[in-house]
Amino acid sequence: MKPIIVWFRRDLRLADNPALSFAAKSGRPVVCLYILDDDAPGEWKWGGAARWWLHHSLAALDQSLCRHGGGLVLRRGRAGKILPAVIEETGAEAAAWNRCYEPYAVARDTALKQQLAGGKIDVQSFNASLLFEPWEVATKDGKPFRVFTPFWNALRGKSEPGKPHPAPRKLAFHAKPESETLSDWKLLPAKPNWAKNFDWTPGETAARRALSSFLGDISHYATMRDIPGRDGTSQLSPHLNWGEIGPRQIWHAVKSHAHARSDGAQAFLKELGWREFCSQLLFHNPNLPDSAFDARFNHFPWRRSEKDFTAWTRGRTGIPIVDAGMRQLWQTGWMHNRVRMITASLLIKHLGIHWKRGEEWFWDTLVDAGLANNAANWQWVAGSGADAAPFFRIFNPVLQGQKFDPGGDYVRRYVPELKNVPDRYIHHPWDAPTPPPDYPPPIVDLDQGRMRALESFRSISKVEALPGDI
Ligand SMILES: Cc1cc2nc3c(=O)[nH]c(=O)nc-3n(C[C@H](O)[C@H](O)[C@H](O)COP(=O)(O)OP(=O)(O)OC[C@H]3O[C@@H](n4cnc5c(N)ncnc54)[C@H](O)[C@@H]3O)c2cc1C
Repeated sequence: MKPIIVWFRRDLRLADNPALSFAAKSGRPVVCLYILDDDAPGEWKWGGAARWWLHHSLAALDQSLCRHGGGLVLRRGRAGKILPAVIEETGAEAAAWNRCYEPYAVARDTALKQQLAGGKIDVQSFNASLLFEPWEVATKDGKPFRVFTPFWNALRGKSEPGKPHPAPRKLAFHAKPESETLSDWKLLPAKPNWAKNFDWTPGETAARRALSSFLGDISHYATMRDIPGRDGTSQLSPHLNWGEIGPRQIWHAVKSHAHARSDGAQAFLKELGWREFCSQLLFHNPNLPDSAFDARFNHFPWRRSEKDFTAWTRGRTGIPIVDAGMRQLWQTGWMHNRVRMITASLLIKHLGIHWKRGEEWFWDTLVDAGLANNAANWQWVAGSGADAAPFFRIFNPVLQGQKFDPGGDYVRRYVPELKNVPDRYIHHPWDAPTPPPDYPPPIVDLDQGRMRALESFRSISKVEALPGDI
């Protein structure tokens, strides 16, 4: 039989991979392909931390495929050219992939499908990365939801998401076509190797391990998820982002767990709901990463200050919880969700810097950088998103620190200059009798920054609310 190409993208796993299962069942010999398409128009080119993850995840996938007697074919270039070329080289008559929902990917895949169908290639695509397709959870009038709670209620009101597919037991491989080598892609940082302290194990096996270790603690999730000094969350985000594990696998593992009814399990499933919500927002609002959903914010008088922005990126704002978060991000490629909100809020509100600057920095530094989650959450903090926190609700980073990191464990872990500051001053060391000598004073007076933010907001809130940018 002529081969079938399985085009891997954000589904770097064998289990619950419907495209791979389809290929295995077709009885055709399989060619497993990954294309690094860096210059696609409209695509956000992967940032540095994401590339680090991608390198290791592709290596892990290749190893798994090798254990089945095959391997991963690596090609770099425009997907619209490479896929047809591999089809021609191998004489394939079919291709299968799992859908991506980012606007550029939808456009690319639709065009490719048409092109291949014209050449009599059978193309099948599947959902592997969401619980439901972005158009499946809709209002009674069939419109996309803009507010999370009714979206979540509608999702929960549907029948359970499909059960995950087991990994194919057997795969028959076609002779491996020429492949580039992973090291030639130079996805890893070299000079300097800023990822040297990343303590992650990318890949499907590690993803499954992370899930089962988290499930052991899931009943505490509701109370622990906001404490950045503790490992109270699953840290599954990069695995999910790269499709090393799928949401259906997670959903059903939680549902069949002994503590499935606990507050922790329910709160955790809701976070998967936020992930779905963000994906459907981006799907229906392709401009979400680039322009404010609430168009009033396109008139916001943003400040330009490279000095403040640099201090923020380097974790040198002089505000402990913010600096700890920004250093955790730089050192580990990940940041706790509570602290993502606090750091984002300081940048946008107290410093008055455009949310897009923060969005781009996170894109470059997060191992879980995902277009939908990143854009929707930045707009949520900015107050410009769908169902966003109102702009005038401004996080006070000192109070947030005192509430969620009361003993200062998190701050001390990432900001060693503050190691000896007494607990009562740990979140506002400028008030300590002897402020730490090597830690900067705050770059912004929190009260003044807040007042300036509210003043700026007043200037746009006089503008009539415009419909979202759909
Ligand atoms: C400014 C900002 C930027 C963000 N950028 C990203 C990003 O680029 N990629 C990303 O995956 N998440 C992003 N998030 C959402 C969230 O912070 C991370 O998903 C979460 O911290 C990942 O840690 P975890 O896996 O331990 O989460 P858990 O608490 O264990 O949650 C489980 C899963 O639910 C999903 N999830 C949790 N919170 C959210 C949320 N607020 N929105 C959407 N999905 C969520 C994630 O897939 C996560 O892995 C961002 C949040 C903020 C405030």
